[in-house]
Amino acid sequence: MKRRRIYIGIFIISVLGLFIVQYQYLKIGLNLAKVQFDRKIVRVAEDIKVDLSTENQLSFLVAQAVTKDNYFNLSDDKVKDASQHFLNDFIKESFIKNGIDTDFSYRLYARDTLDYLHSPHSFSNEEELIRYPISIEGYLPELIQKPLILELQFEDLNGYFLSQLNGLTLPSILFIVAIIFVVIWILKSFYWQSNVITTTNNFINNLTHELKTPLFSIGLATKILEEDMQENQKPVISMIRQQVERLKKHIDLVLELGNLESRKNLFELNKVDLRPLLIKWCENFKMIAAVEESKFQCDIAEEEIWVKAEISHLENAVFNLLDNARKYSETPEIYLKAWKREKKIIISIKDNGIGISKKEKEHIFKKYYRVSNGNLHKVKGYGLGLSYVKEIVKRHKGTIKVESEENIGTEVSIILPVTHAN
Ligand code: ADP
Repeated sequence: MKRRRIYIGIFIISVLGLFIVQYQYLKIGLNLAKVQFDRKIVRVAEDIKVDLSTENQLSFLVAQAVTKDNYFNLSDDKVKDASQHFLNDFIKESFIKNGIDTDFSYRLYARDTLDYLHSPHSFSNEEELIRYPISIEGYLPELIQKPLILELQFEDLNGYFLSQLNGLTLPSILFIVAIIFVVIWILKSFYWQSNVITTTNNFINNLTHELKTPLFSIGLATKILEEDMQENQKPVISMIRQQVERLKKHIDLVLELGNLESRKNLFELNKVDLRPLLIKWCENFKMIAAVEESKFQCDIAEEEIWVKAEISHLENAVFNLLDNARKYSETPEIYLKAWKREKKIIISIKDNGIGISKKEKEHIFKKYYRVSNGNLHKVKGYGLGLSYVKEIVKRHKGTIKVESEENIGTEVSIILPVTHAN
């Protein structure tokens, strides 16, 4: 829960950071665009100055409008109109030549007079216009004997600069949105999955507890029955008790797996010499094998075998492997060997059973997985044993290896790291 909050926090901070970085880049981009624009305007101003400084078609027509000379025999308005458009087209062309492509207006005026000329199109919010005045030299001011100014006007240029930066801003916003979308999706499915695991584990825990109560009652009832029972009924009762024991073992296994996965229990590794324990486990299993008339042999290294282990779980794991060797062999001959190699201890359990095919070998460690011919041989199981063994071995920082040949036998090896005696 805490870790989840930390991850979500990091994610939110990262996305916010990304937005801030993008915003800063955008500001830098806008400033650069403004500097570039100002440079272009200086070039435009130079062009206009040069063209209006001498007498030519444009400057002559503008002069007609400014001085109201009636050279063309046309009304003042018509001359004004024509020069307005001519000047407008000239400025526009100069803009395009210098790489400026935005709306503009202009006005031509002398300090102490009203506008002589202004652009055909003008902006409504006069106050907020950005203005670039160009003082005209040469022919025109000499003609009217006054300094003349041509003012270029633009509306808010930020929109124009932004449209120039669109190639950068839009993709980066899109990419950030895509990242947010994907991360949210991953987080959602991850938490959905962990929810499912928790509910499954809760369900397993509840169910196993529910199963244990009636089992306890059956055990108690058989004990009572045992007290006054005839000799010929005894095998029946012992069968019931045996099966109850088996069922209890399976329930414990399911419970342990559930707890291991939800990390509820404390799994504590302690330093221990495995040798005496292995000998004890072998003795125990020998007794079971003797009852079933199966062969069992043990070969344990003569030296001390110190490992960091959680003994009850490791014992369960070894017994699960021994149990499988017994279950999946018709006339079991089982061989347990434990030896040290380099800094490892290898515990191998070999049988002469039905074996596992190469294809099935990949799946046998999955929870609830059973090889179908396991059922064919009428061997009962829940497909939990090996997944439990694997989990336990993993928690001991070890590995597990299976070598098997169909109808010849199987050898399962647990390889654990050894430690020093003190
Ligand atoms: P279970 O024995 O309860 O079915 P396990 O997880 O212990 O579950 O084993 C999974 C499958 O692997 C079994 O169904 C069986 O087919 C196969 N298997 C395990 N051990 C052996 C073995 N020693 N020999 C042959 N098959 C085995």
